Amino acid sequence: MGLSHHDRRWRALRLAAKRRDGFKCVKCGSRIRLEVDHVKPARKTPELTYELSNLQTLCSRCHSAKTRLECGHAPLSPERQAWRDLVRSTPKETAYA
Ligand SMILES: [Zn+2]
Repeated sequence: MGLSHHDRRWRALRLAAKRRDGFKCVKCGSRIRLEVDHVKPARKTPELTYELSNLQTLCSRCHSAKTRLECGHAPLSPERQAWRDLVRSTPKETAYA
């Protein structure tokens, strides 16, 4: 199972974005469970998918909060967020396109 051209390109870009942001979340400064987010959603601006300037490093918590807002959901209550953090304590790398 080899990596597609897309995966390799995206992997290199994610690393470049994290390096630029100092390997921490640009919103809260967390250094754990970092993910790379599209500032402008890729589904709306596909031409910016591979633009480093359209990428930002977020921790999974800030990232999921942003994604929820983009999808028109209210932010989670602190209790639900705490529960979700607990459930999701397994580290994983997720590529959001
Ligand atoms: Zn954060």
